[in-house]
Amino acid sequence: MKIVKTDSSGYVLECDCEREFRGGRMRLTFECTRCGRVAYAAEIIGDWLLSRRGTEARLTGAPF
Ligand SMILES: [Zn+2]
Repeated sequence: MKIVKTDSSGYVLECDCEREFRGGRMRLTFECTRCGRVAYAAEIIGDWLLSRRGTEARLTGAPF
């Protein structure tokens, strides 16, 4: 499971089963609305932040 994008109302997530769904902020876990898979919010938000940092580093040419 991963975050696709964020907006003011929360996160849009994509599950491994390819379902996209919305997860609110301040949630401890995110649960897929299709297959019921549960992921820890802290874990996938962390992955998302790391991937964003990697993209920005490449765009600016800064060493990671
Ligand atoms: Zn799913």
